[in-house]
Amino acid sequence: MTATAVEAPGRARMRDDGAHERTSTDVRRAGLRITEIFHSLQGETSRVGLPTVFVRLTGCPLRCGYCDTAYAFHGGRTMAIDEIVDEVARYQTHYVTVTGGEPLAQRGCLDLLSMLCDRGWSVSLETSGALDVAPVDARVSRIVDIKTPGSDEVARNRWENLDHLGMHDEIKFVLCSEADYLWARQILVERALASRCPVLFSPSYEQLPAATLAEWILRDRLPVRLQLQLHKQLWGEARGR
Ligand code: SF4
Repeated sequence: MTATAVEAPGRARMRDDGAHERTSTDVRRAGLRITEIFHSLQGETSRVGLPTVFVRLTGCPLRCGYCDTAYAFHGGRTMAIDEIVDEVARYQTHYVTVTGGEPLAQRGCLDLLSMLCDRGWSVSLETSGALDVAPVDARVSRIVDIKTPGSDEVARNRWENLDHLGMHDEIKFVLCSEADYLWARQILVERALASRCPVLFSPSYEQLPAATLAEWILRDRLPVRLQLQLHKQLWGEARGR
């Protein structure tokens, strides 16, 4: 790890009222179900291309039609937070992404995020947008999906989450079709999303050609970032990359 600690270890700084603190002992006792921990290049978001350690938590309450991590729905192994942190440290990177599945479906995820921040990593969280992101440590960059009709999970969007996002966070749409694009464009305008944080439009892999989405974004002058999944360009759908 190249970064230094930014806060006393074991002090979890929360977004809600700043008064929510726990001892390091409490935090370290918590265990989490983990599918995999691996070292790769960040394939998405504004951190694309950066060497990153990924911590993939097991389990997700959603079932998106395009899900490419269904192997993380079940199984995994239970690891104490200290064990997870030790494993992350082995790779000597500055960036850590906690992903899933839906990482926030496990309560201990909040403690893990705070512990990773305490240890000095630059931490991002990838979440479905269906669960409350307000309690996430303020140092974490939250990458929050807005599920489109084409995902089959549009009813799960927790719209209140948008009120908690800032420029440190990002909103992501995965688009399956032109109908999804038009829906996302409307949400973007109606909810003034680009004034809240960076917005990512990503084509669903093998469902929507990236060049087509690029043309639509340019035609409509949308203030969004086209996002391709770098890891899939490099390694296809290989697991753990
Ligand atoms: S939220 Fe993510 S992990 Fe869960 S089903 Fe949808 S794409 Fe898969």
